[in-house]
Amino acid sequence: MEHNEIASIARMLHRARKVVVFTGAGISTESGIPDFRSPGGIWSRYNADDLTYQKFRSSEHYRRIYWKYDRERYPAMRDAAPNEAHHAIVEIEKAGKLSALVTQNIDGLHAKAGNSREKILELHGTVHEVVCVDCGMRWPREEITDFMDREGVDVPYCDQCDGPLKCATIAFGQTLPQEILAQSFAMAGQCDVLITVGSSLVVQPANMLPLEASRKGAKLALINMTPTVYDSIMDVIALGSAGAIMSSVMKEFRQLTQSSSG
Ligand code: NAD
Ligand code: ZN
Repeated sequence: MEHNEIASIARMLHRARKVVVFTGAGISTESGIPDFRSPGGIWSRYNADDLTYQKFRSSEHYRRIYWKYDRERYPAMRDAAPNEAHHAIVEIEKAGKLSALVTQNIDGLHAKAGNSREKILELHGTVHEVVCVDCGMRWPREEITDFMDREGVDVPYCDQCDGPLKCATIAFGQTLPQEILAQSFAMAGQCDVLITVGSSLVVQPANMLPLEASRKGAKLALINMTPTVYDSIMDVIALGSAGAIMSSVMKEFRQLTQSSSG
């Protein structure tokens, strides 16, 4: 990681009034939650085609596969603690600069770190709730999974309408929550700075957020382990681990804040 990049992201933050932070799975890998595209993960044992929303709706057979997969991936998320990168975004909010925290993550670590609920826009839902796919009724996850354990149930159904219950995340083939998506694009269109952290920027349409911000005149920063297809539109790119980079950025940011107020 280069000091120049750290310093320029800190300066961007210092000058900005409205910052949007956009996060992906890469911000949580240092908390022990594997991202999608790393080898040897849960993906080597499940076929993505079996886990689509359409398959889930189609039969008990696929709902059973879905819940097995879901219950296997959940403990890592339940037990994870936020890392330095999550804490840095809390500091940006405390500095009064965060207009929105748009995330593709479903792990709930931004809320656990202390960002306020109203700033967090979860594009892909959350593992911490379960929803009836027919009537939309929601439950805290543990309430349903405790019941499943107790009664030996593999697939839970709604006690209001008999619809199948699913983890409240967006499955492959499922439409994104339109209101949250619209709100995310509106915030991206109004910010001065958009910082992407830990996303390969390949998942549509969320990866269009930096583009939208840039079109409306915002500065763009990217903090990621590996290059992305959107590198050419970025004003600053800091390659490396999100935790180390974000904590160095915040150190510089604090110094800038102190020297301008002192
Ligand atoms: P992705 O897996 O496509 O990309 C993650 C990116 O993060 C990669 O480019 C990788 O190089 C980078 N990265 C990994 N570790 C990093 C680190 N320590 N510091 C900086 N960068 C790091 O993830 P995505 O763009 O979020 O999209 C994939 C989908 O995966 C999303 O739909 C998301 O909902 C889902 N997902 C979420 C979680 C989670 O909630 N934690 C975990 C796995 C997958
Ligand atoms: Zn229902």
